[in-house]
Amino acid sequence: MEITPNKTRVRFSSLMCALGHDYMITKTITPYLKEYKCCKCGREVTDGIDGQLKQLTEKERIVNECVSAFVRKKHNYVKPAV
Ligand SMILES: [Zn+2]
Repeated sequence: MEITPNKTRVRFSSLMCALGHDYMITKTITPYLKEYKCCKCGREVTDGIDGQLKQLTEKERIVNECVSAFVRKKHNYVKPAV
């Protein structure tokens, strides 16, 4: 028995977003760095360094988590009393 990948679903989802994705914010890391997910096809993107949206890969997800940890640490920093 041969198993074939279900390509019909992929094509249907790409047709649904042929006119544009319907992104909603899934995670706000900073006011200028957010992660988005398309409500129709489930595509995940993030803000790039050039201001364009780019595919949210595992590498981008790790970078965003590092930036989030850095920002949290920066805002929780209290200057020592002199
Ligand atoms: Zn979409």
